Amino acid sequence: MAGIYIHIPFCRKRCHYCDFFKSTDFSQKVRLLAGLKKELESRPSELATEEITTIYLGGGTPSVLLIDELKDLLSTINQNYQVSPEAEITLEANPDDLSQATLSAIRQVGFNRLSMGVQSFSESDLKLMNRRHGVMQAIQSVKWAKKAGFSNISIDLIYGLPNQTLEEWERNVRIAVELDVQHISAYNLTYHEGTVFYDRLKKGILKELPDELSLQQFEILIRILKKAGFEHYEISNFCKPGLYSRHNSSYWKSKKYLGVGPSAHSYDFESRRWNVSSLAKYLHGVENNETYSESEILTEQDRYNDYIITGLRTIWGISEELIQTEFSALYFSHFQKIKEKYLTSGHLSCMAEIVSLSPEGLFISDRIMGDFMVVESC
Ligand code: SF4
Repeated sequence: MAGIYIHIPFCRKRCHYCDFFKSTDFSQKVRLLAGLKKELESRPSELATEEITTIYLGGGTPSVLLIDELKDLLSTINQNYQVSPEAEITLEANPDDLSQATLSAIRQVGFNRLSMGVQSFSESDLKLMNRRHGVMQAIQSVKWAKKAGFSNISIDLIYGLPNQTLEEWERNVRIAVELDVQHISAYNLTYHEGTVFYDRLKKGILKELPDELSLQQFEILIRILKKAGFEHYEISNFCKPGLYSRHNSSYWKSKKYLGVGPSAHSYDFESRRWNVSSLAKYLHGVENNETYSESEILTEQDRYNDYIITGLRTIWGISEELIQTEFSALYFSHFQKIKEKYLTSGHLSCMAEIVSLSPEGLFISDRIMGDFMVVESC
């Protein structure tokens, strides 16, 4: 079981909070598509014995591609890899790229899951974030997607926005529930260096929402979505029963994946690889059969820390037995010490030797993960 991720690094406009690798210059689109095809054709040996159970086109904005371009990418994967007939095939899409006809065509070429960048149901929030779409466009896109036959739709929301009140956030969550989608990802706003929001924060033009308010928004999110029948399966992710993002879950469960395109990451249990975050360097490398990626062999410490971060984020938690059998005794004793501390404080729970965050622990997850992680050799 393995996944394939393809990074489409184009966006029509830059959102003010976003630090993903992307470009608003589409002039190299045809070259990029040829490069992606070449990379896909050159790496099947890395997944030779693996069945591909998830494919994910992310970005950037993959919905800026034409239907034939999307179809071509999926054909290249199908021709070179063993794709499961039940594979989850996701397209990240922005509402303003979508129409009823486009969504029907996207469904027909083989995508069976949509991840829509909605972010907010408030026009003023969308304007502040420099999003291209409006509220009604987002709502209409979800309705069209259902009509087009999508029965697995995810929407992204952002909370913790400057001046966002609890009432405004609650309204956002309630609209998302009314849309009757299968999956909701909700992220607390982060001010990444290099973004417009970061600059405005530094200049005092924007004011960060106080932590207590962000936490209260997180509480509202959990309360409303749980009541509406969503499973809270990862810190920022909620789904209708069983409808986890299989692709993202495979990251959290340390499954193998191949990342294709500029800035994409790959993982194969023993090493990590990352393609260069530059369109020009990626194209030069892939076209001239020169290196366009770096990689590293994972140390025991890397593997332990990765397992802690990914395990604690989800309802699947951390297996004590695995920590004991896969890592040296020093890691296990460090793990036990921190586990006891947070079990006593009520921030962790432990059932059948699986350790996970308690409802209270969700609110201080960063601190708990930080304590579990090992920064120096044990
Ligand atoms: S949030 Fe999405 S659409 Fe906006 S700039 Fe980032 S990748 Fe592009």
